[in-house]
Amino acid sequence: MIEKTVKELLYYAETHLDLDPEDEIYFENVLLHFFDKQAPYEGKIDKERILSLSVPDSLIEEIVEYETKQRHVDEAEALRRADFVMGTLSPKPSEINHKFEQLRVISDEKAMDYLYRISIANYYFQKTKVDENLEWEASYSDGPSLKITINLSKPEKSNKDIAKLLTKVSLDYPKCRLCHTNLGYYGDDKHPARSSIRFVPLTLAGEKWYFQYSPYGYFEKHGICFIDSHVPMHIEKKTFERLFDFVDLFPSFFMGSNSDLPIVGGSILDHEHFQGGLPVLPIFKAENKETVFTSKKGSTLSILSFYDTALHFEGKDREDVISLASRVMDAWLPYEDLENDIIGNENGIRHNAITSLARKTGEVYHLYLLLRNNRQTEEYPEGLFHAHPEYFSIKKEGIGLIEASGLFILPARLKRQIKEAEASAKLSEEEYLSLYPDMKDFKDMIEAIRQGESAERYINDVCRGILGNVAVFKEDKKGQEGLHRFLKSALGESL
Ligand SMILES: [Zn+2]
Repeated sequence: MIEKTVKELLYYAETHLDLDPEDEIYFENVLLHFFDKQAPYEGKIDKERILSLSVPDSLIEEIVEYETKQRHVDEAEALRRADFVMGTLSPKPSEINHKFEQLRVISDEKAMDYLYRISIANYYFQKTKVDENLEWEASYSDGPSLKITINLSKPEKSNKDIAKLLTKVSLDYPKCRLCHTNLGYYGDDKHPARSSIRFVPLTLAGEKWYFQYSPYGYFEKHGICFIDSHVPMHIEKKTFERLFDFVDLFPSFFMGSNSDLPIVGGSILDHEHFQGGLPVLPIFKAENKETVFTSKKGSTLSILSFYDTALHFEGKDREDVISLASRVMDAWLPYEDLENDIIGNENGIRHNAITSLARKTGEVYHLYLLLRNNRQTEEYPEGLFHAHPEYFSIKKEGIGLIEASGLFILPARLKRQIKEAEASAKLSEEEYLSLYPDMKDFKDMIEAIRQGESAERYINDVCRGILGNVAVFKEDKKGQEGLHRFLKSALGESL
């Protein structure tokens, strides 16, 4: 009975969402009206059970069941109504901001933990779903480890879908999923429900930004920073200043920016934003292969021992690190190296791009620049420095900053397809194709399993192979000479 659920929700909000008990009667009447009920439940509720909940899933299920069975709305609408209820019972945005600022005086970590706790407790970050994702470490005998995850909640998007989003002229409100006007937005079939979203304002490089936790949770404390106005991604020197401002505010986090071009960027290019979290990405563990430059102020530029083309700038003088990295970026954007198939610009269209990540260890600033290029060729129409077609069954989407840094987010369908490949390895081709039509694209994996390899091991090799495709300067002699030639042109004779 929904009146009882309302009572439970109120007790849940008091114990998990900081609802003031003085507001209980007020919110009970608001919710009763919302559910078309006239009077409250007079019986007892199991307070112990509610108190012990770490996530509100069971309460959400009760709302969804009432909405679909008694009010006959479809499941998507029932979930939006449940989100509205959780948003109503959550602290107001101004209360969140106030508490966040109060906690920051004690510690930045406590403030970030507070926002994280509320985002889980009010079902914006659906922790149970994220915990079901598959995750393993991919280790190799001759290189740094990568991390592989199969994400069960994220929809798979192709490069073409993302390019379409960029050119779409939209008058919709909110303009996109990252606009701050999503705060409390009810949502519909085209736009996700945002009643329960909460984010906090920040100042980065003198501009107004916000920070929220990602509903997808690709890694620990995965958050998103987004700028106040709906402006497209654009990488410039100021990007590095914004990133360092963030890690100055929250030194236990890293923050990174996707590149500003399709194919080599993230899925949202029409709103300037960053992604960050606890520094768990494999690139942060990669070693400096070679330090090629030291500035007068002691900042260094090293080539990282990684699978794509990764440069590591570090030093205690923040402005010096930024200016060194900017010199390299400015040299990279128009750069051409035909021997390595790199064409920075073609008919006025830029192909070279930068993916950047910042973090701090003690007083040392680190900036990671990944050199990228999104050129499409006749042989590789999806992108020359993108995953090549033999890997599409595993990963076809653009390789954004998280994956280029070694944490792969593979599509949900793979959970089923791995099982099908394992079953197929025991059957003839004709038999498995009739049972599992998808398996036509998995012949290599099935063959590897037949040879005694595990499906995970096969996927590990594919992911490393994809980063090799993404590398603009390959690991071979020609590539490495090309990389040194580029760095010399960027930094001049000082190199
Ligand atoms: Zn926007």
